[in-house]
Amino acid sequence: MNRRPLLAGNWKMHTTVMEACQLAAEIGKCSAGLADRDVLLAPPYTVLSEVAHVLQGSEVLIASQNVCWEEKGAFTGEISPTMVTSAGGSAAIIGHSERRQIFHEDEEIINKRVHGALTFGLMAIFCIGETLEEREADKTFELLESQIRAGLAGVTAEAMKKVVVAYEPVWAIGTGKTATKEQAQEVHAFIRKLLAEMFEKDIAESVRILYGGSVKPDNVDELMAQPDIDGALVGGAALDAESFCRIINFT
Ligand code: PEP
Repeated sequence: MNRRPLLAGNWKMHTTVMEACQLAAEIGKCSAGLADRDVLLAPPYTVLSEVAHVLQGSEVLIASQNVCWEEKGAFTGEISPTMVTSAGGSAAIIGHSERRQIFHEDEEIINKRVHGALTFGLMAIFCIGETLEEREADKTFELLESQIRAGLAGVTAEAMKKVVVAYEPVWAIGTGKTATKEQAQEVHAFIRKLLAEMFEKDIAESVRILYGGSVKPDNVDELMAQPDIDGALVGGAALDAESFCRIINFT
């Protein structure tokens, strides 16, 4: 199965309006003409529409870093799927480990967010990953299975066409420690097998599974060469135009 690679940059809580526009413009330039892969940026909410504006006419996709399940209402601090769309976005990151760990978002809320994104036509970039203690206690696969079953509960096979899974071991995020290509491939193959059990083989074969956790210019090529790694979700290195440009131009 030919899955189109997806290279996504998560800017987290970084960039002023000016910095965001400048970074977006540089990434727009270095992604021009990359016809065989998707490039996506997830800037802070405050600059979603500015970044979309800067990238108008390019192929770069825009995502929000989270999304609510409701279209509007009394949900202070949240962003709705239609707000994302109206700002020029077409995707949302959901269940990032920082949301799970710092803001205590649980499986139920993450599942509601996934449904919210899909109901309103956004691509859902659904993140999962184990902590160091869970890995050391040999709980990685058990934990990932429960995150996937809970986060994707009630999602239909048809809706899975708009889901991207991002495997991000918590111990590798922002730490400079990357999973080895073998560790990452082992987990990605496990996720695909589980998706085949939950949905069907064709769906599992077509879902893109991204790796995230200290992806850098010097490790992206070997990660992307793994058969079940279909892209990367990049944090730190996505804030530096030169590094991110090298990452999206992986060979
Ligand atoms: C992330 O935030 O999703 C991430 C993977 O961060 P970093 O690349 O900095 O480890």
